[in-house]
Amino acid sequence: MRITVMGTGYVGLVVGACLAETGNDVVCVDTDEGKIAGLQNGKIPIFEPGLEPMVQRNEDFGRLRFSTDLDAMVAAAEVVVIAVGTPSGEDGSADLQYVLSAAETIGRNMTSEKVVLIKSTVPVGTAAKVRETIERQTDQLFTVCSNPEFLKEGAAVGDFMKPDRVIVGLDSPLGRPVVERLYAPFLRTSNRMIFMDNVSAELTKYAANAMLATRISFMNEIANLCETLGADVDQVRRGLGSDSRIGSAFLFPGPGYGGSCFPKDMRALIRTGDEHGSKLNLVKAVDKVNTRQRRRMYKKLKKAFDGQVEGKQVAVWGLAFKAETDDIRESAAIDLVDTLLEKGASVAVFDPQAMEPARNRFGDRVRYATDPYDALTGADALAVATEWLLFRNPDFDRIRASMSGDVLVDGRNLYDPDQMRGLGFRYQGIGR
Ligand code: NAD
Repeated sequence: MRITVMGTGYVGLVVGACLAETGNDVVCVDTDEGKIAGLQNGKIPIFEPGLEPMVQRNEDFGRLRFSTDLDAMVAAAEVVVIAVGTPSGEDGSADLQYVLSAAETIGRNMTSEKVVLIKSTVPVGTAAKVRETIERQTDQLFTVCSNPEFLKEGAAVGDFMKPDRVIVGLDSPLGRPVVERLYAPFLRTSNRMIFMDNVSAELTKYAANAMLATRISFMNEIANLCETLGADVDQVRRGLGSDSRIGSAFLFPGPGYGGSCFPKDMRALIRTGDEHGSKLNLVKAVDKVNTRQRRRMYKKLKKAFDGQVEGKQVAVWGLAFKAETDDIRESAAIDLVDTLLEKGASVAVFDPQAMEPARNRFGDRVRYATDPYDALTGADALAVATEWLLFRNPDFDRIRASMSGDVLVDGRNLYDPDQMRGLGFRYQGIGR
């Protein structure tokens, strides 16, 4: 199939590469000329495990190309995938300007029958808006399909190649065989393709993210209660997760959820509820708990410094919002660094993949360490904010020797509290 993917970010690039991998003829287009020029020269703009060789391989075979010629590439496609960003607008609703601009381009170039897949996360009613936008410019038959993406950054290629399920909303039966053919290679061992109307598909994506965010906020609240009661949240988590009705995923407490999806999608869902007179009280509470949790690591540091943060040196390990990605959008680690700087601390940072985005974010306001231990030189405290494998079994004697202080705030519960105290750290985890 001839496929054009609009938007070459975390979603568009992965989707484009995976669709090329199954033999399709894919062009990824973007309005960002620098990004496309880089991709044409073999520079992958993001870190995503397994993506680079897949892009390379498919480019070499001529199945994957990159272009800024949106009009020509959309005109030539049978399937157009919208994978552009939907950031939060000022009022918390999803900003649809990029999606609707993509729809304009599609309408202008609807020279033959096409299926339009919306992979961007968009509020209920957007597929209908996309249809209206296209219809204003053409009499061609076409299908708009709300096909939300569930990939996780850090495991995106595997998630797309072996999906738990594929949600497909359709506003016309014409597109169904095309979508079935498109996904057949990824669903050979299951038939978990769930067809529904577009409104339900749009809501399914928000409901899924809200459910996962709820589990995280729930565990963060339980963790905070554990601290008050003297319980160990890690033991509670294991006990809880072993119930087959509950399951063990998404039960790790931490510094609060972040990233490019959960925070903005929660805000957009709350906004949708408010706009339609159906208040989402639970979702609002989840968001509120998270906002508070994102201060937690800072508060622990402040307490360890007896309230005197100004003039302290803090090493922060991890800036990405989670391990295995370079994405720092709405990362709790970034909030922590911002607050420390605001309160007059000096900060040294290390992240195995996110140093470049961090440089763009902080400029010369922090020191960029060359490795985890370099960040510790002269530090009063170490704060571990991202659960990178690299941080899980470090040389603790070297850590102690490099630091001038003894404060260790473990925002991801990577270390054993007794062992840490035995080594002379003033250790604080989350909920232990
Ligand atoms: P991103 O910001 O990394 O990439 C978006 C890209 O779209 C940018 O390169 C931008 O230049 C480009 N773009 C904007 N307008 C365009 C246009 N008119 N034509 C062509 N390109 C255009 O975003 P992302 O993280 O890939 O997310 C994309 C969408 O997918 C969002 O709605 C997001 O909520 C959703 N989503 C993201 C994830 C994730 O893990 N990142 C997972 C599931 C769903």
